[in-house]
Amino acid sequence: MTASKSKAENLGKGASTQAVHGGAERDKGFHSMTTPIVQTATYTFDNTAKVIEFLEEKVYGGELEREEYARYGNPSVWSLERRIAKLEGAEAAVVYPSGMSAVTSLFLTVLRPGTHIVMTDDCYRRTRQFCETTLKKFGINTSIVPMGDYEALEAAIVPRKTRFIFTETPTNPYLRVADLNRLAELGKQHRAMTLLDTTFATPVNLRPLEYGIDFVMHSATKYFGGHNDVLAGVIAGAAGRIKALKDARGIFGNVIDPHQAFLVERGLKTLALRVRHQNETALKVARYLENHLKIDRVYYPGLESHPDHGIASAQMSGFGGVVSFEVAGDIKATSDFIDRLRIPYIAPSLGGTESLIEQPAYFSYYDLSSEERLAIGIKDNLVRFALGIEDAEDLIDDLEASLSQVPARAAVRQV
Ligand SMILES: *Cc1c(COP(=O)(O)O)cnc(C)c1O
Repeated sequence: MTASKSKAENLGKGASTQAVHGGAERDKGFHSMTTPIVQTATYTFDNTAKVIEFLEEKVYGGELEREEYARYGNPSVWSLERRIAKLEGAEAAVVYPSGMSAVTSLFLTVLRPGTHIVMTDDCYRRTRQFCETTLKKFGINTSIVPMGDYEALEAAIVPRKTRFIFTETPTNPYLRVADLNRLAELGKQHRAMTLLDTTFATPVNLRPLEYGIDFVMHSATKYFGGHNDVLAGVIAGAAGRIKALKDARGIFGNVIDPHQAFLVERGLKTLALRVRHQNETALKVARYLENHLKIDRVYYPGLESHPDHGIASAQMSGFGGVVSFEVAGDIKATSDFIDRLRIPYIAPSLGGTESLIEQPAYFSYYDLSSEERLAIGIKDNLVRFALGIEDAEDLIDDLEASLSQVPARAAVRQV
């Protein structure tokens, strides 16, 4: 399938213009507005001469215009990869069937036995689990350091062994924000690659590669897809490194289905529109909660009270759509508060059109006791509110109606 080169370079640099047009090909065949879903497992050749022509390019370099077998590529996937690369300001991107598939493939492809990773402590729990179990089996060790403690991070680096410095920003659930200049500098100084999971930020709010970070990854299940209806993951970075990941994907076989890729591409077109709205709504909700007597504490990097407000303001053009807070009450008062809400669904995940709310004490850490949870900083009364695209006023009315019924004895504000 041949397609004309993208004309989108000349269309402007605004995030919404880029989200709609960046990396898109104008002529996709069949005069189709959207990238057609090529639902096939294999590709055909007219004759043997064409086979040889293809293999010459594939084996000896050159720009491939097609593929032979769907594990190695599909037009929907190529299109999505081009678009995400544009949004991140990256040379290239590689797409996977989930965020976990992206991060595990990167580590398995790049790391050798005896190498080492440094990661921060409030990283996604499954990523941490993968490092501490699977990678450990292959002789790859991981050091976990407190988020925001750059001295501890530097001290954890093992000369010539540490290959990756990995953090998320903003983190879950406390929305801590990493100082990207500092991370990039540490990486260069110690010859370690830097990997940032910026699922919570999206390239609308933060573009880590501009700070000299080596790889950016996303769970595209969240804001990229944006509709709570598809799983996907992505890594963006320098062309050579991404090519190695694509080659490995052809061997691992963790390829995204073309229909899944189509859904993410469709979601991407409204990314900037949604994220800007979510930034605004989240800030309003965070400010409302911060002034509420039945709320002990609010965590949102857009608030002056957040420990990383300074660095977030310097780096990010918006603070994202997730607000965490502690209800002035115990575990039961908190879950009752959640149960009374009418708009948000009770569910894990974030980044879609529907607001989702969860109590981390139950959702992510049910297997731990209250004391064990406290030891890792998860309070019983903590709530994570992932805003959808509903109107701020309606969400606040809903919160108000429920908060007003939180028992009064709990209404003592902690300082
Ligand atoms: C959801 C999530 C992941 C995992 O992504 P999946 O698409 O669910 O596999 C990784 N990192 C962060 C920050 C996430 O929110």
